[in-house]
Amino acid sequence: MTTVSTLAPSLESELSPQPLPVTRGWRAWLRSFRPSAGAFWGVHAAALIGAIAFFSWKGVLLAIASYFVRMVLVTAAYHRYFSHRAFKTSRAFQFLLALGAQSSAQKGVLWWASHHRHHHKYSDMPEDIHSVRRSGLWHAHIGWILGDEWDHTNDALVADLTKYPELRFLNHRAVQLLPAVALAVVFGLLGGVSGFVWGFLVSTVMLWHGSFSINSLSHLFGKRPYATTDDSRNNWALALLTTGEGWHNNHHHYQSSANQGFRWWEIDVTYYVLRVLALFGVVWDLRRPPAAVVAGTA
Ligand SMILES: [Zn+2]
Ligand SMILES: [Zn+2]
Repeated sequence: MTTVSTLAPSLESELSPQPLPVTRGWRAWLRSFRPSAGAFWGVHAAALIGAIAFFSWKGVLLAIASYFVRMVLVTAAYHRYFSHRAFKTSRAFQFLLALGAQSSAQKGVLWWASHHRHHHKYSDMPEDIHSVRRSGLWHAHIGWILGDEWDHTNDALVADLTKYPELRFLNHRAVQLLPAVALAVVFGLLGGVSGFVWGFLVSTVMLWHGSFSINSLSHLFGKRPYATTDDSRNNWALALLTTGEGWHNNHHHYQSSANQGFRWWEIDVTYYVLRVLALFGVVWDLRRPPAAVVAGTA
């Protein structure tokens, strides 16, 4: 088994020293309705119409299941592994993590990680890509994704990941949506139109807004046990909805930890899944915060 190095270079050294420009206000709002954002709104409309036309409780349960499985994939893979290198795994499982997370239709693995690292570098500073304080709730939630300023993957921010050709392949614009399309086809083949509507359309819309809520609502509502330089907050409701990501103030306080719930009562389902995978030797060296960090004395 080939071990993938998780000795991530310091974010300071891999991030661009020049802040990128951010368009705000009505111009940014208008950009989120550009033609290429049509698919995003089209999926919303199709999910709403489909949910009404094919309503069933079985469908609701299917949407919830598809949502939580993919939420764990997004948070374990895109966020904790690729963005923060919070644990180690094999090169083969690394690929599977990226493939699974891309079924979320949240663009490519390198795109996701590079923009997330940028957020941590400039959290709630003028250069932050998605800061409620700086550019408002709309922009922080979805405006920055739908606009055209952040389409490009900044390879300099993910130099530790771009060395893997299979990740560059998955991140390619012509490829990055294929895992999501494949999942949609599988739901359609197994469950017909109803399976496609609930298992893919409805759950994907839920997954988008669940993930995006960490960029927006987790910097607005909740408690701040740690005096970080940003607005990040701990919010138990968001933590339940996002399988642990709602402990966002903990996360900004100590980013490289595999667990974002620091205390036993801070439910963190993604971390529990990682612990089970570690039991089977699929992942290892899960990073945890030192006691002094949790206590807030370091
Ligand atoms: Zn944040
Ligand atoms: Zn993060």
